[in-house]
Amino acid sequence: MSSSFYIHTFGCQMNLADSEIVTSILTDGGFARAGDEASADVVLLNSCAVRENAEERLGNILTQLKGRKRRQRGLVVGVLGCVPQFERERVFSDYPFVDFIVGPDNYRELAGIIENSREQKHLASLDYDQAETYAGIDPVRTGTISAFLPVMRGCNNYCAFCVVPVTRGRERSVGYERVVAEVAALSAAGFREVTLLGQNVNSWRDAKEGLDFAGLLDGVSLAAPGMRIRFTTSHPKDISESLVRVIAARPNLCNHIHLPVQSGSSRMLDLMKRGHTRQEYLDKIAMIRRHIPDAAITTDLIAGFCTETEEEHRETLSLMEAVGYDTAFMFHYSVRPGTWAARNLPDDVPEAVKKRRLQEIIELQTSMSREIYRCEIGQTVEVLAEAESRRSSSQLMGRTKTNRAVVFSRGEFNPGDTLLVKITGATSATLMGVVQCPV
Ligand code: SF4
Repeated sequence: MSSSFYIHTFGCQMNLADSEIVTSILTDGGFARAGDEASADVVLLNSCAVRENAEERLGNILTQLKGRKRRQRGLVVGVLGCVPQFERERVFSDYPFVDFIVGPDNYRELAGIIENSREQKHLASLDYDQAETYAGIDPVRTGTISAFLPVMRGCNNYCAFCVVPVTRGRERSVGYERVVAEVAALSAAGFREVTLLGQNVNSWRDAKEGLDFAGLLDGVSLAAPGMRIRFTTSHPKDISESLVRVIAARPNLCNHIHLPVQSGSSRMLDLMKRGHTRQEYLDKIAMIRRHIPDAAITTDLIAGFCTETEEEHRETLSLMEAVGYDTAFMFHYSVRPGTWAARNLPDDVPEAVKKRRLQEIIELQTSMSREIYRCEIGQTVEVLAEAESRRSSSQLMGRTKTNRAVVFSRGEFNPGDTLLVKITGATSATLMGVVQCPV
């Protein structure tokens, strides 16, 4: 029986890339893509377990689907990704109408599981496969300008607060030749930008070729010299001088590094099992600035991790000022089941204190971002136009190599064009400008 499917995707860019892989697997398996959820007879939810709010949004959509499942005979609902990988029983007990669950290493089985779910209840495919990198699958891209390309999956770091090593298993890298060929193919297909993805992307290795992530970046930058190349997410312990030198040397490697720190306190970093101290992190920042003075550095921050004192919170604020982050993803700590912290540490910072500390972090970051963006006024920067701006079709939105968003009058230009734009105004999150000329 042929079916149409619709995927809701939650969480990070890795999940967006996985949904493109799932789309490819299902269309090859004879399923059609539905334009919206209402017209699909298979609804898939590609879930994220990293943040509490992504799980809440998953719950909201599942709750809405419950009534539709009752009304629409033959509707199939499946939950994919990180949530079922470590909360198998809970998905079926909280949402008994869910037909099946499939983990991140098992998407190749999806077409068969959908068919079998019409006869069998509560199918689960959650085995880890430490060799699975989805080689041979050509993702169905959702965009035409920028693409995400997973180059490694899983993580070996076991940070105390993080579910990723549980949900996605151990690290495995896509081989050098395959990554280079895929980037070259994206370039030939007209893509203007690619982001190399991994939970801990800079621990990428190809043992056979004797290459680390610096070698990979060097190879892809040469394979697609006309394309912008980004990567995320990096772990501070794996940012090497050779990697930073390659970024500095190659103009198509973007000078933006997302380097999560989580806390400015060495005691907190130790408790979080991050594998570095405050000073070691600051030494890496100094090394980056030495080689790439105009690098934009962004980060992730957690307020109110277990046992965090007021003094340790202030260390986070002072580290933020010392680094001068462009932007940050900022959260207050919430316990994630299955993590080391959930089993071993008291979640003892009161909710109100966590929220107040988070607010202080947000206010500091907003004022620093506003100042950094204000300093761009008067500069002329290279912008890759990505899309129409959300406010008006007569404006385009693009990004600088430092990943700063720029809005400007469209004129005769289109998404995909690379332009020199003179910056004329700024908020804490967006630059405004006037096009000078195409690049
Ligand atoms: S490095 Fe730490 S925070 Fe990042 S995915 Fe791995 S365990 Fe999670």
